Amino acid sequence: MRTIGLIGGMSWESSAEYYRLVNQDVRARLGGQHNAKSLMATVDFAEIEDMQRAGDWDAAGDLLAAAAAALERAGADCIALCTNTMHVVADKIETAVTVPFVHLVDATAEPIQAAGLTRIGLLATRFTMEMDFYRERMAAHGIEVVVPNEADRTTIHDIIYKELTLGVLRDESREEYRGVMADLAERGCQGMIYGCTEITLLVDASDSPVPVFDSTRLHAERLVDLALA
Ligand code: GLU
Repeated sequence: MRTIGLIGGMSWESSAEYYRLVNQDVRARLGGQHNAKSLMATVDFAEIEDMQRAGDWDAAGDLLAAAAAALERAGADCIALCTNTMHVVADKIETAVTVPFVHLVDATAEPIQAAGLTRIGLLATRFTMEMDFYRERMAAHGIEVVVPNEADRTTIHDIIYKELTLGVLRDESREEYRGVMADLAERGCQGMIYGCTEITLLVDASDSPVPVFDSTRLHAERLVDLALA
């Protein structure tokens, strides 16, 4: 079994979910007392969030690249970045290591492609919904990403930063997410990407009128595929 290297802390609420998912999946596949071999490098999300606010993606990229290199030195056989948003600096991380970097967008896109879907709603941080990196990588897989309107993007983003990354789960916020997803489905979205690693803590597949592609679960599954290959 290969050792999975996880760059976590963005937020730790979702890193804990990754940890649970990779271990549960290895147990499900191998049985008995098996669990995933893993290492996690946890950054301080407050530092990353300051850099996001300042638009200092270079500094954030350097910090995350250093975390990836430390994981490789410690024995990780592959590296995963446990956040959608910070994939904006994926190139920098990928070039800092010699082991495979398991890209979250690819792990999310492939099951969408396999399902034959081409027009998908995206719930994520404002950065992920509005910057090019995510949309372009999905487009390379033949998938058109549709984002909520401006007011709904603000709602989705604020709930992530003011609640989910702080471990706060509110029924009212779940209702807000349900409403935004209903609107995206009405706009012709055939599926919904939970494109922020905390969203799965608030809503599940039953909250969406169309099939859900949860980036956290799909990324974790891809990591286990690689670890056991
Ligand atoms: N975990 C979130 C994501 O998947 C947001 C936190 C961050 O900005 O990294 O995008």
